[in-house]
This record gives sequence, C-alpha cells and structure tokens, in this order.
Amino acid sequence: MKMRIKSSPTKLEIENARNNGQLMLLWLEIWPNCHLNCSFCFNHGGRAPQTPDWLTVDDYYKIIDEFIALGGKYLGIPGYGEPFHPRNLNLTLNILEHALQKGVKSYVFTTADLINEDLALQLKKLDVTLMIKFNSFDEEIQDGLVGSRGYTARRAKTLELLIKLGFNKPEIDEEGVTTRLAFVTSIVPENGEEIKRIWEYCHQNNIYPDIDTILPKGRGRDYTCSSAEKIEEIFKALTGHEVKSPTYIDGHCDRTMYGLYISYKGEIFPCLGCKGENGDKACIGHIKSGLTLAWNCTLEKKIRSRDYSGKCTTCEHYIDGKCNSCIGRCCTKCTEDCIEMDGCSFYKKASI
Ligand code: SF4
Ligand code: SF4
Ligand code: SF4
Repeated sequence: MKMRIKSSPTKLEIENARNNGQLMLLWLEIWPNCHLNCSFCFNHGGRAPQTPDWLTVDDYYKIIDEFIALGGKYLGIPGYGEPFHPRNLNLTLNILEHALQKGVKSYVFTTADLINEDLALQLKKLDVTLMIKFNSFDEEIQDGLVGSRGYTARRAKTLELLIKLGFNKPEIDEEGVTTRLAFVTSIVPENGEEIKRIWEYCHQNNIYPDIDTILPKGRGRDYTCSSAEKIEEIFKALTGHEVKSPTYIDGHCDRTMYGLYISYKGEIFPCLGCKGENGDKACIGHIKSGLTLAWNCTLEKKIRSRDYSGKCTTCEHYIDGKCNSCIGRCCTKCTEDCIEMDGCSFYKKASI
C-alpha cells in the first residue's frame, strides 16, 4: 500500500483543486533563524538580524485566514530557518495552533534535534507531521554535512521519542496508509551508498522517504552534487525505473499547480525557486495586497496550465505528465511573456 504523509492532500483533492484552479496548499516561511550550517542550505542558514519587514504573528494569522477563505486546507512550514529554534519556537507554535483551530493540516520541515519531550507532546496534540532532515545514519558524515558536532546523536534521541509517541503509527485513509513522520534526504556524494538503507529503513518503519536532488539555491548553488549517472543508478536500484523527474525519487512535484509560497517578509512566489527577468526570484505579490490577487495573476495562471517553453517541453517525462519540470531547478526565465524551462540531466527527448 502506498504511503503518504498525513498532512498532505489526497490525489482526489489535488485533481479537484487543479480542475477548479483552487489554492489548496500554502508554504509559509518562518523567520530565518537556524543553529545549523548545512553545506547545501537552500537559504544561507544562520542567525539573521531581525528587520521591521519581517512578518509578525498577526500577519501570519491574517495570511492563514485569507488562505482558508479561498478554500485552503494544507500548510507547509519549510526549513528556511529552523521552526523550533528558540527565536522561532513561539511563532511556530502559534501558527500551528491557529491553523489547527481553523481546520488546516500542517507539516513542518525540521532538524528535529531541538525537540524535547515537552515539545514533542505539544506537536502531537497539534496533529503536525514532521519532515526531518536525514542525510545519513553515519555521525561523521551527517555532522559534517550540517556543520554541527553532536547533531546526529541529538536527532537520534528525538527520533526515538517521536517513534515512542507514535508519530510513525500507520493510519489508513481512503487512499492508503499515512504517517506523521518523514525523512527529508537530499542525495549528495557523501550519502550515495546509504540511500538504499535510508529508503528501506523508512519503509520498514512507516516513515515517508522524501528523497530528492540538491536544489541549486543559496549555498546549494555552489555545492558539488552527485553525478546524474550516480543518481540514475540509485533511483533504478530503489524503484526499478529510470529517473523521471529531479524533484522526487519516486514521483514528481506538482505543488505549483495548487500552492503558493510566502517568504518571511510577506512576498508571494509561485514556489521556492523562481527566476524573473533579471535573475532574481519572480515575486508575484505581497500579502499586503492579498493572496487572491497573486493567485489570479497572469504568471500564476501560466504556471498552473504548464504554459512553458524551452527544452523541458520536448522531454518525454514532461509530455507523459511524469514531470512538471521544476521552477527551482530548470527555470531560466519566469515572466508573464515567457516561462523558459531549460531541462535537467534526466532529459529524455520525446519521440514524436
Ligand atoms: S538547510 Fe535548513 S537546517 Fe540547514 S542551515 Fe539551512 S535553514 Fe538551517
Ligand atoms: S517546482 Fe521545484 S522548486 Fe518548486 S516546489 Fe516543486 S520541486 Fe520545489
Ligand atoms: S528535462 Fe525537464 S521535464 Fe524532463 S525530467 Fe528534467 S525537469 Fe523533468
């Protein structure tokens, strides 16, 4: 039976949202404070001096309320900063509480090592799904990748606790089995030989394996990634088929079809990586002018209808619907006139 994270939309919900042009998912950045120093961080994780343009807790509430009014149901908090960092903790809990009260399901990307028993119990009550950074079982490798000695041991302690509290307990819904625990694993040269073990461990323990390739953003831009051949080899060994999208090991990202991404300053983006005319991220609005305006803008409509040009549009995986291309990995231009998707290492020319 296919596993799915509990706070994610079902296939049917996605289909309905896509058919009706409905906003269903919001990724909402938390303030960018982080205690780790990952070598491939898609941000530039660290301690950021707070400025007056950061969203306040009331701003976050207003965003969630507008999102719900538009029919939104799912909230993702990406690890742009660590959501449970002491400087972010109260804000994150307030957001999760507010979302729960309004019937929105949440998932949070986290390093997990700052979660103690008290917090784990609160998160359980808040019905949150935890997406945990997990690149390696090996202490030397993992601590090295995140630039923090002792991280792997701290994370192991939290994992034991979360499993004891039943975060990975299988629950059956109309589409299969769900879990509230996921491992988020980027394939890098250091863990190439371990992906199989991570994948198998996840399946044996009802933990969702969220395995992808490095996103070339922030420090990830200059990171030496695994070769396409190595990634192909890993994918094939695990799934039995060739890589059909760089976005996930077993599937592809379709969030741009029903979701928006909000920065901690309130800027609205189609997703977390999107290039505009001058190479900067393509911002489609600010929460001050509301989500509705951004959701209905020309650029968003073009993205939702996959009105792209460039190499990806001649790729077999794109034509077969196995890949939506990737705004963060392939987009070289993202404007109302033209969204150029320049292909990836897994391009396969379609035979027409
Ligand atoms: S990837 Fe996440 S955990 Fe790592 S430094 Fe960046 S914000 Fe922090
Ligand atoms: S399109 Fe790519 S960058 Fe955007 S959310 Fe999906 S996987 Fe991430
Ligand atoms: S070339 Fe484009 S469409 Fe083809 S697999 Fe890569 S990202 Fe997907």
